[in-house]
Amino acid sequence: MRDYFKLVGMECGRDLRERLDRSLHILRDATLERYAEFSRTYTGDCPMLRPDGLCMLQRECGEDALSAVCRYYPRSPRTLRADECALSASCERVCEQLFEKTDRMRFVRIPLEFAYELPKRSDDMITRFYVPVRKLFVSALQNREYTVSGRLAFCEKLAAVLRDGFAARGISGIERALEECASLSPERAAGERDTSGFETAAYMLSRLAERYPIERYAAACAASEYGGMEKEFLKRFPGWEIMCEQVLVNHVFYDGFPFYGDLRYDIYHAFAALAALYAVWKVSSVCSLAGEGDINALVALTSELFRMAENSNFNIAALALLANGGVPEKSVILPLCAL
Ligand code: SF4
Repeated sequence: MRDYFKLVGMECGRDLRERLDRSLHILRDATLERYAEFSRTYTGDCPMLRPDGLCMLQRECGEDALSAVCRYYPRSPRTLRADECALSASCERVCEQLFEKTDRMRFVRIPLEFAYELPKRSDDMITRFYVPVRKLFVSALQNREYTVSGRLAFCEKLAAVLRDGFAARGISGIERALEECASLSPERAAGERDTSGFETAAYMLSRLAERYPIERYAAACAASEYGGMEKEFLKRFPGWEIMCEQVLVNHVFYDGFPFYGDLRYDIYHAFAALAALYAVWKVSSVCSLAGEGDINALVALTSELFRMAENSNFNIAALALLANGGVPEKSVILPLCAL
C-alpha cells in the first residue's frame, strides 16, 4: 500500500505521470502487502518498460521510486552470511545481459539500501568460510584455459575435498581442506564422454516435467540424438561456453552455493544439484534449439529453467532423482559435467 501512495503522489514528468495514472490500479482483493498493480501493455510488458529495455520509473525518478517487488526482484539481497545482492537468471533481461557479457564477471562493492529489514548475520562455521569457499568455485568456473565441462569436473574434485573438511567439524579441518583445494589443478581432459550423462539428464527432465511446466523440453530430449545435435547447437551458438560460464557463476552467487538453505545437504550434494541443473539446461538447449532457434529462444529457455531452479525445491528434487536420498555417486555426476 505504501508503494501505491508513493507512486500516486510522486512528482515526475508528464509522460510518466500519464502512464502511471493509466496503468496503476488498486486490486479488488487488495491487502496491505499486495495492494495495487500495473495493468500490462498489449504485448504483456510492464507499462514502465521503455523500448531500450530500461525502466522509465527508475530512469526518471531514481531507484527509490521502484516498488518493493521491483527492488527485490530480480535483485536479490542476502545478508545471512555476507552482505550481497545478486540477480536472478529467471528474469529474461538478466539472461540477456549475462549472454551479452564476455568479460569475466566481477563482484564489486557498492552501497545499496533496502527499505525492509533483512535477516541478521549468522555467526556459525559456514558463515566464517562462506566467502572463501565460494571464491574457489567461482575462480574454477571462470578458468577459461579449460572447457566448461573440464571446469565442472574440477569443481567436483573441490566439492569432495571440502565435504570431508567440513565433516571434520573443526576450523583446522576446513582450513586444511581449503589449502588442499588451492594446491589442486584441473585435468586437461574432462574424462571420457559416454552416453550415460545424456540418459540421466533426459530421465531427470522427464521426471521433473511431472512437477514443472517443462514438458516440451523433456519431449525434445526424448526424441533426440544428442551428439550430432550438440555440434549443430554449438555452430548456432558459438559463444555458448562463455554464456554458460556467466550463467553458472551468476547462479552460484545468487544461490549462496554451496551452502543452500537446507543444510541437511553437504557441499558434495550441493555440487551434484549444480551439475544436474547444468545438465538439464544444456540438454534442453541442445535438443530444443539445435535445428532452429535464436538467441531470444535461448534466453526464454534459460530464464524458464532457472525460474524453476531458483524458485522451487529443484535441488531436493534433483538429488532425489540422482541419488534417491543417498549420496550422489561420482560415476553419475561426472558424465553430467561432461555434457
Ligand atoms: S522495474 Fe518494475 S516498474 Fe520498472 S519496468 Fe521493470 S517491472 Fe516495470
